[in-house]
Amino acid sequence: MPRLELVGHGQHVMTVCNACRYCEQFCPVFPAMEQRLVFAEADLDYLANLCHNCGECLYACQYAPPHEFGINVPATLAAIRVESYEKYCWPRPLAVIFHRHSVARSIVLAAPPSIAADLARRAQPAAVTIRNHYSGKRATLSPIPRDAQLRRISRVPRAE
Ligand code: SF4
Ligand code: SF4
Repeated sequence: MPRLELVGHGQHVMTVCNACRYCEQFCPVFPAMEQRLVFAEADLDYLANLCHNCGECLYACQYAPPHEFGINVPATLAAIRVESYEKYCWPRPLAVIFHRHSVARSIVLAAPPSIAADLARRAQPAAVTIRNHYSGKRATLSPIPRDAQLRRISRVPRAE
């Protein structure tokens, strides 16, 4: 769907939801939506990034297709969210990846699991210092990598 059309559709969906408000307890999207009477493009980007695509509001919606209002909040917000990734992406040249879904998907799928595991290991935080709220004492915590935890667990003798 072209961007202008998508924004128009998002405004239509949010306007119907704002009048209905049946789903206001479901997630942060609806309370944030209720703060607004009009939905500018930036508002839609913000709301779209609050949605985690659980689908609950679609199952609950009495205006979902085939109703003539055609309200499908998760699909609408997902489409706006992808557009927003492209719009706010940094560095800018990487934005093209969100246009070419299949390219991005193949790169992710083609990456050997060992690379993903290695990246996850490297992303592990270094030792952190925390302060006990009650005693005021400080302690240093070193997160133990998962592999090391598994090695340690595997050395514990099992009860027969
Ligand atoms: S998704 Fe449907 S039921 Fe939920 S607030 Fe919007 S219009 Fe109402
Ligand atoms: S699909 Fe999105 S908007 Fe709908 S209830 Fe889930 S998080 Fe909220």
